[in-house]
Amino acid sequence: MNAQRVIADLRELAARTSTPEGAQRLAWGPVWRDARAWCKAKIDELGLPIRTDSAGNNWVTLPGASPNTVIVGSHLDSVPNGGWLDGCLGVVAGLEALRMHAGSKPAATLTLVDWADEEGARFGRSLLGSSAAAGSLNVNDVRELKDRQGISLVEALAENGVALERMLDAHRELKTVPARAYLELHIEQGPVLESMNKSTGVVIGTFGVERHMLRFIGQAAHSGSTPIPMRRDAFLAAAQTALACRDIATRHSKPGAGVVCTVGIVNVEPKIVTAVPGVCEISLDQRALDPVVLAAMLREAHDVSEKAARDNSVKVEWRNLWRIDPRPFDPALLRLCEEAVREQTGDAPRLPSGPLHDAAEMVPHMPVVMMFAYSSNGLSHCKEEDTPLPHLEATVLAFLKLVQKTVAHVGSS
Ligand SMILES: [Zn+2]
Repeated sequence: MNAQRVIADLRELAARTSTPEGAQRLAWGPVWRDARAWCKAKIDELGLPIRTDSAGNNWVTLPGASPNTVIVGSHLDSVPNGGWLDGCLGVVAGLEALRMHAGSKPAATLTLVDWADEEGARFGRSLLGSSAAAGSLNVNDVRELKDRQGISLVEALAENGVALERMLDAHRELKTVPARAYLELHIEQGPVLESMNKSTGVVIGTFGVERHMLRFIGQAAHSGSTPIPMRRDAFLAAAQTALACRDIATRHSKPGAGVVCTVGIVNVEPKIVTAVPGVCEISLDQRALDPVVLAAMLREAHDVSEKAARDNSVKVEWRNLWRIDPRPFDPALLRLCEEAVREQTGDAPRLPSGPLHDAAEMVPHMPVVMMFAYSSNGLSHCKEEDTPLPHLEATVLAFLKLVQKTVAHVGSS
């Protein structure tokens, strides 16, 4: 197991695909293709072929004694001005896992996948390649997407040999693989491990998300002449709702089972310093790992918005933006992950993932687990993103151990 080689590879990739502003491996563009060419050269050294599926995901398979397969995956694409670890840490660690097992026949088949366009940074659709492989992509939802230059997703895909209409064939292709485990190493992108001063975390699942717009409708009025009790102030109703939703999240948070909620958008009309707001729209994004808790949070948010509307003599309308169910990870793989992390770092903190990852798309199809690396200052999607070296080494070694344990587990079952 060679953590130094993983770190050297990551530095080499960063030097090749970054500017002083950070990583520039935007999906479907020339720098991303160059990152994949770099990766291919490393894989060529192992004498293994790369197969690109119908969604543009790259697969490398090392056949084992058993056809039952352990998939290790993540993504080489980055946001513009991104960090040096987001995505590529998991791919490069997976490459090292292949190196580790090449030469001898592993007990189970080991496959590395580099998912295409995890970030959605260019066209706004995250998890594009993995959702196609999972069969959850609706091609009609993405057909009209364009980037800031006006280039359509369909054109960008075609430039890379991918036909939108055939992307879902990747699902059929994945179903032919006897996948028994999916493992993903990723930087945490949040402050939790740092706050505990732990190198490595066992990820118990990805949060479910309820995302809505709430529109409060009152009556715009003169700010000087309208007495407070006679107002129908839409902003105050929205503000009261936002505070109450924070209280709901606080109430449902338990140690080890945190939940979050965010009001990230506030639009007020008529937006005049001398007018009582007649309309106020806010976004509400609630996340939790437990589906019962998430449903309760949503129900309670409805109730407090109705109460806030009554208190301020306004009306409220809800509009759903997007939702996804929680994706809890596999108990058997969680145990192996915990073992590996504990053996390497002496402890095995468990935490949920707030951000979604390609791993979430695999949950309905095979046992999944993720491992997180310490994230300095909780920063990600920026050039400051980092994992201090001792933490990075420990995490890479823990992950390689997890791959080893999983290969043995799948090979023997
Ligand atoms: Zn990522």
